[in-house]
Amino acid sequence: MTYISLSDYLKDKYNTKVYKLSLTSGCTCPNRDGTISTGGCIFCSEGGSGDFATSGSIENQISDAKKRVDNKISSKIPASERKYIAYFQSFTNTYGDQDRLMTMFSKVLEYPEIVGLSIGTRPDCLTDDMISFLSNVNKHKEVWVELGLQTINEDTATYINRGYKLSVFEDTYKRLTDAGLKVVVHVILGLPGESEEDMLGTVAYLSKLTPTLFGVKLQLLHVLEGTKLAEIYKNEPFHIYELEEYCQLVCKCLKLLPKETVIHRLTGDGPKKLLIAPLWSGNKKLVMNTMRKYIINYQ
Ligand code: SF4
Repeated sequence: MTYISLSDYLKDKYNTKVYKLSLTSGCTCPNRDGTISTGGCIFCSEGGSGDFATSGSIENQISDAKKRVDNKISSKIPASERKYIAYFQSFTNTYGDQDRLMTMFSKVLEYPEIVGLSIGTRPDCLTDDMISFLSNVNKHKEVWVELGLQTINEDTATYINRGYKLSVFEDTYKRLTDAGLKVVVHVILGLPGESEEDMLGTVAYLSKLTPTLFGVKLQLLHVLEGTKLAEIYKNEPFHIYELEEYCQLVCKCLKLLPKETVIHRLTGDGPKKLLIAPLWSGNKKLVMNTMRKYIINYQ
């Protein structure tokens, strides 16, 4: 079985490997600050589901993130040829003073080596003005808007305290794609109470969004220290996927998705120091090798 991975997509488009710079917009989240709720989604850690970025002025963040990435890059790629995507992952990166955010996003894109912008947010936090701004930016450098849908099942959405209905996602998805923006939808596999049928139902629903669906992020549910989910897990342990079982499920998801959908992620990166379960997910090499084996052999 074949699929388009994010690195394939970027390599094909930019003719070189493109690296993500994890940046912080300084936004909070309405699902944590009391506007919708104070608890947040039950799986969300203190870092707002993005525990890898630093803080400080955007210029300093870019410089620090580039140093971190460059230290890992093979010296065969000359510095002048390195390309990056600015990635705002933590919390809700369109929630806050709109002028400040637009100024910041514009500043990031002034860097010639930054070829695009990826913004993680909630569908209930995208104003028409912000969509119109991002749509203009998208004419010069590509913009992806990442929406944490996680599931289409309303009961699960209530249980995980997502704080918005599927209809909100549908409305925003349409506004974004009508504006020509690329949308990446996040799905969590392994949420408590969800059967395999439920998860595949979410993926099948997304597959019907073609031809406007740009990307999907399949994320393994991580139980992280300090979250509501960790409390639930300790008091009433629920099913946690074994590695091989998870790989099989991912193969079924990939089979349902259109061939042109860019797969941005197959598992997910929880911070190891907070990881309670599944512990095998901390061994990235093992996970990717096993996953590769399953995908190659899957009919
Ligand atoms: S919307 Fe994102 S940042 Fe907000 S509580 Fe849920 S996972 Fe955390």
